[in-house]
Amino acid sequence: MQWSFSRRAQALTSSAIREILKVTEQPDVISFAGGLPSAATFPVEAMRAATRKVLAERAESALQYGPSEGLGPLREWIAAQHSSDGSEVRPSQVLLTTGSQQALDLIAKALIDPGSRVLVETPTYLGALQAFSLFEPDYVSVASDEHGLLPEALTPEVIEGARFLYALPNFQNPTGRRLPLSRREALATLAREQGLPIVEDDPYGDLDYQGERLASLRSLAPQQVIHLGSFSKVLAPGLRLGYVIADEPLIAKLVQVKQAADLHTPSFTQQVVHEIVSQGFLNEHIPGIRALYAERCGAMLAALERHMPRGVHWNRPEGGMFIWVTLPEALDSTSLLGEAIRERVAFVPGAPFYATAPRANTLRLSFVTVAPARIEEGVERLGRLIATHLEG
Ligand code: PMP
Repeated sequence: MQWSFSRRAQALTSSAIREILKVTEQPDVISFAGGLPSAATFPVEAMRAATRKVLAERAESALQYGPSEGLGPLREWIAAQHSSDGSEVRPSQVLLTTGSQQALDLIAKALIDPGSRVLVETPTYLGALQAFSLFEPDYVSVASDEHGLLPEALTPEVIEGARFLYALPNFQNPTGRRLPLSRREALATLAREQGLPIVEDDPYGDLDYQGERLASLRSLAPQQVIHLGSFSKVLAPGLRLGYVIADEPLIAKLVQVKQAADLHTPSFTQQVVHEIVSQGFLNEHIPGIRALYAERCGAMLAALERHMPRGVHWNRPEGGMFIWVTLPEALDSTSLLGEAIRERVAFVPGAPFYATAPRANTLRLSFVTVAPARIEEGVERLGRLIATHLEG
């Protein structure tokens, strides 16, 4: 069949990460490529018990269509969780979504016209670029340093006419950076004073290795910030459960968009997750995830120290799942990847994470799914390969 794809579909290309993941599924490849949480943290027993209980006690509503906004008690639970942040959230400000990835799509549909200015970090989450790009925005990359976005780069000329700034303040994907409190305050002030909407994407906020939390942008500028949360990194990504917190007029618009997309987030999943979280399960579960990820991050940092040649730089994340590596300028990580896979080690090249002006000498390492001994082995292979390109 000769398909006549829409102009929008024609512009789509496959995610570089997904293409690489196919190769790295082979068991002898040590993969630092995937953005997957560790399956060792999945709450299998809690899921089994909650599923049984939901089916025994409320099968009819759990298996029925539900409201587009999401399950009432789960909206209340999410609102209460975020109210402890320093400012009150009403349940009517919460919309459940099919993963936070859907929230990115709904927001793009509601706020982006072709040519709309959208401000993004340098670099930023590839999945958000994919979601937004379908609606043909005009991206402006906002300068960042090793601590994240630079508020002073948001001059009045940059902000002028922007539909929103897309920001990842906690353990950013891809860099693992966390935005310091002073910069959050500066951003919130800008948002309030200039009326700049901010989309705050926060799937990793609970994964601080010390269990600390910096104030969310939402708590600092509740009117201007659209906050995205997810159960993917604290329970399991296969649940496909995320949420948006925003003011009611925006939520009402997103609900209309969501109705057209999928009517509502699965009732059954919401019931099961509510059953789990309302018992306080996350308080006992999340510390174990933090400890595991902190250990693996430490193993990778130590291996990088041991095996990376001079001229290679990386950050030391305080939480989350990623380390960002900068190679000497002359090296292109995309061309390095083919050789790396032949050496049975994989990473994600940094270039696709840039909305504009990609930096080819960067790459992302994900450490949470690999045991420490394999981390050591994989980083050694990578270090050796990079060294061969720097000799002579
Ligand atoms: N935002 C960011 C920054 C992410 O890293 C991810 C997952 N890789 C998502 C959103 C999507 O998460 P989910 O749809 O599983 O909630």
